[in-house]
Amino acid sequence: MTISRFAWTLVFGLLTSPAWAWDNHSLAAYRALEVMPEVANAPSVNVETLESFLKSEEKTLEALLASQEAWALANLENYPARPSALAFMAKPERSDEARRQAFLTALRIAPNSKFALFLQPDPRNGTPQGTALPYAAVNTLPEPQNSSYKFIAIKPGDAVAALAVVATASDEPDYGLDINLWDDSPSDWGKTYGFGTQPFGNPSLSFATQAPFHMGFMHESRVLYAAAPFIKRTFPRLRSYQYSTLAALAFRTGHPYWGWRFTGLSLHYLQDLTQPYHASLAPGESTFKLLGANALAMAGMTGMKDNMVILLSNRHLVLEKYQRETMEAAAQSKQDSALEKALHNTDKDASYPEWNESYLRDIVSTQAAAAGPQLVQTLLATMPPAYVSDPSLDFGTKEDNINLLAELAKRDPAERARLETAVAELMGNFGAHSRNAVRGILKASNR
Ligand SMILES: [Zn+2]
Repeated sequence: MTISRFAWTLVFGLLTSPAWAWDNHSLAAYRALEVMPEVANAPSVNVETLESFLKSEEKTLEALLASQEAWALANLENYPARPSALAFMAKPERSDEARRQAFLTALRIAPNSKFALFLQPDPRNGTPQGTALPYAAVNTLPEPQNSSYKFIAIKPGDAVAALAVVATASDEPDYGLDINLWDDSPSDWGKTYGFGTQPFGNPSLSFATQAPFHMGFMHESRVLYAAAPFIKRTFPRLRSYQYSTLAALAFRTGHPYWGWRFTGLSLHYLQDLTQPYHASLAPGESTFKLLGANALAMAGMTGMKDNMVILLSNRHLVLEKYQRETMEAAAQSKQDSALEKALHNTDKDASYPEWNESYLRDIVSTQAAAAGPQLVQTLLATMPPAYVSDPSLDFGTKEDNINLLAELAKRDPAERARLETAVAELMGNFGAHSRNAVRGILKASNR
């Protein structure tokens, strides 16, 4: 029996939250990459507009984007071919704006993406210097309540640190680049992109439309794939490949600012997949239970399924909130927690195979999916029970008013240490894989 994607809408209720894996990638990326001499000691780079980069590399980009399409067709499962009308062709006489539009639509990302010139300063360095940019200057999505984001304007020719460029860009794919790309999206461009209908999640919620690019369910059971084949239609590997090969091209052709920026954009997708809730559909739940809950719901008994959706969502959000609060507190106090120490630790980097175009699937998401069940046990044992075990509480609607670290401070220190160790392990993976990807991209750039 194949279940229609609509029958599963509730299972994907968890995808409708504005909180994304590792809420702000930049902060963790600063810590992961500042210990890497190739990044920390890289010469500062001169800022360049996207239009200028595209204009000077138009011919090489035409060839690269054609090779990306060939790679995707040959290597990605369930890859929908790009409509040939979207191919990027060198046309030196066209306007900068027309070239930019052609590039973004050839990549099949949102054509209104800002690609502003900006940095997200490292909060570890105190009050940032420079001209602040409003949220809306870098991001097409509405600013969340209580947003703590800070952006600083940079301009062409400015010399900026490679670390700041790559760490800043590692958060950028969440700024609207992958929004409304589907046939059934409320956008002009979605219908022309050929990605098909949105495989899961609510098409009218902008945040949900990006999920199939930022999650990858590559290690589910055969039974689940047979029942719900649409869960295979996820594309983080496409994005990772597009941006990593763009980075190598930019480095090779003398555009190091865009080399580092595309490197950061590419890292985002790898980092998302280090989050167990982005690498498997329902961490800690058996296929049998998922299918059972779904079958009951189809017969009109939705209780089990509704509870499962809420609990999955709550655990997902509580994990990310813990990581965010811990790292923000560490940045403010300038005292490393176990999370920063894990991000700094390079001991395991060499224990993984060298970075390659299947690394995301074979190494990163395999590891994250496998970590799910144990992680869920830890969350259940260490978090306040109301947040992880009570389906009558919707954590997503309450979390703005919750200070999780303060709540945890009232609990048993041994439990707190267990939780910190578990999340530090995930941050260790985030760091090791990010560095391995940077090494791979630099190698491909002959640097
Ligand atoms: Zn993301």
